[in-house]
Amino acid sequence: MVIKTNLPPNSENLEKILKISRTASWKIFGKKIRFYAPSFTHYQNHYFHSSSIAFQSISITGNSCSQNCKHCGGKILRSMISTPTPDTLFNVCKNLKAKGCTGCLN
Ligand code: SF4
Repeated sequence: MVIKTNLPPNSENLEKILKISRTASWKIFGKKIRFYAPSFTHYQNHYFHSSSIAFQSISITGNSCSQNCKHCGGKILRSMISTPTPDTLFNVCKNLKAKGCTGCLN
């Protein structure tokens, strides 16, 4: 769905555009927010703990990242399952689903 306004997208209209967007989002999706925690690191607090299988992190570029951000340098990819081809991606996802995985981050 595309939300259109007649307002030019500039800083003067930012608050109005945000309000229109927020209202449309709440109308379409409601006010409930879902958070997913990738499995490459463990989270645990009083309300939530991550699962090592429920939401797997997959890299379709293996350990290679063309962005090479300063803070990461592609290191995070080493913690992900490498699926360099469409076939490996499909098979990995199929096997993960059979083990109880409910989603993945690509
Ligand atoms: S954060 Fe890491 S994996 Fe993500 S784009 Fe930057 S270097 Fe690549």
